[in-house]
Amino acid sequence: MKRVVVIGGGAAGLYSALLLSRYGYKVALLEASASVAPLLRGFTRSGLQCDTGFHMAGTLCKGGALYNYLNFVGLLGELRFVPYRRDCCTLLRFTGSGDVGIPQGTQPVIQALSELYADYSKNISDFFLDIDSAYKNTALIDPANISDAEFGFKNSKSLRAYFDGLDLPARLRTLMTFYSIYYGVPPARCLFAEFALVAYSMRHDVHGIAGGGLSLSRAFEKMLGKTDCALRLGCKAGAVRTGARGQVTAVVSEEGEEFACDFCIYTGHPSALPALLPVGALRPSMRNYLTQLQETHTLFMVFASTKSSFLCGRDAVICTSEDLDEACANPESGEPWLHLSCGDAGGDGFYPVAVSLNSGQKAGVPVGTEDYRAWKNNLTAATRAQVVRHMPELSDLVVLDSASAGSMAKWVSGSRGSAYGVMHSADSMPVLPFSHVQGFLLAGQSILLPGLLGTFISAAVACGSIVGYKKLFRDMAWKSAV
Ligand SMILES: Cc1cc2nc3c(=O)[nH]c(=O)nc-3n(C[C@H](O)[C@H](O)[C@H](O)COP(=O)(O)OP(=O)(O)OC[C@H]3O[C@@H](n4cnc5c(N)ncnc54)[C@H](O)[C@@H]3O)c2cc1C
Repeated sequence: MKRVVVIGGGAAGLYSALLLSRYGYKVALLEASASVAPLLRGFTRSGLQCDTGFHMAGTLCKGGALYNYLNFVGLLGELRFVPYRRDCCTLLRFTGSGDVGIPQGTQPVIQALSELYADYSKNISDFFLDIDSAYKNTALIDPANISDAEFGFKNSKSLRAYFDGLDLPARLRTLMTFYSIYYGVPPARCLFAEFALVAYSMRHDVHGIAGGGLSLSRAFEKMLGKTDCALRLGCKAGAVRTGARGQVTAVVSEEGEEFACDFCIYTGHPSALPALLPVGALRPSMRNYLTQLQETHTLFMVFASTKSSFLCGRDAVICTSEDLDEACANPESGEPWLHLSCGDAGGDGFYPVAVSLNSGQKAGVPVGTEDYRAWKNNLTAATRAQVVRHMPELSDLVVLDSASAGSMAKWVSGSRGSAYGVMHSADSMPVLPFSHVQGFLLAGQSILLPGLLGTFISAAVACGSIVGYKKLFRDMAWKSAV
């Protein structure tokens, strides 16, 4: 029986472990943290589940892409989905000029935006239909469409190029492209095909999960418990061994425990690979490339509670300017944009709210010092005040906790603390899904795309290389939801 070591027990590693166990591989899953999915599971304050790395996802209807991926490894039966509002899935509050509610579905979005911008209705309609078509044509959504191991988005143009020559009002462009905030790449730097995956999936059959990210991580744990997978928590992979032919032979933990294997799937941050792999396993140019990868921005998060049900069934963005591209280019100028999402109410009727903003760690101030604490407290108070000023519906907001880049780095056992790992943008090279070490594969949010869907797809691609693409994708073949 072939042995596989999966490094990292986040969404990608857990999915890989479940999938390979299903095919009879002997799997060992090594997770550096004390529990699985540290990014997803969140934490509890005042009896409320505060969600960190999972709030909502789309294509969660029968036949939808994420629904199919969950179903394939048996997770579907362990989860209860909470539908987001169809009429207003995301509320965009422009601080100077009122609200726009973004509905779900292609035609409703076209109609809603065309009512506001009648002169541009053809541009609006063309844009969203082009997104649907790009989504439909992405082999990754429906493995049945994969004819060879061609998984990238090489031939896509950028979103900026798409808008070239279209003289659209800045606010309309923002309304069409705000979906990019869900994967941490400013619209001006998005690749159209990648943007289409996110924009489509965050506009169709969007749901939260009852119990939030904690329920998801528990569902993973439960399903894993039904397999023979050896789960090792608090076990950080420190080195990968290779044999005479350059093939992977074992993973050694930082404590020196050795896990022999025929394959290894690594789901941590790619920048750690040069330290993990034997000297000489990577060409100098590849080592250089891996250490210089561009990161997505880092987030500051405030966790709070409210009695108001205003955010139930939708997320909200407080847009402090009309132009998202400009806000991304100059994040320090003016008030930050805020993203808000809401979880399940606790027994006493309070709802947990997570507010995130794009914010760097305070430069030069080490975590844990007085200065750092003062910075964190000030930013927390300023963020709460900004929410209440622009969204008086949440005027009773009570802060429960906050998290900076330092916490983010801890959740992913990385040194960087970027929100969504490596930035997948039009002007930076994608991370290569295959390494030069035979049998050593990469998966996770830094490889393909962040989000549950992106990480599950990347896991399926890595596992396909082990199980055999034809076999795996024939088994996985399903009709896409489009
Ligand atoms: C604030 C925030 C909100 C988000 N909201 C959503 C959302 O609403 N919906 C959605 O779909 N997605 C959301 N995402 C994105 C989603 O959470 C991530 O893309 C996804 O969870 C990443 O999974 P992963 O397995 O690729 O990476 P990770 O979760 O980072 O998993 C990698 C794991 O590897 C472990 N590890 C690293 N190195 C080693 C080593 N050497 N040895 C052993 N273990 C190691 C780490 O501890 C970690 O657990 C959000 C992300 C953030 C930050």
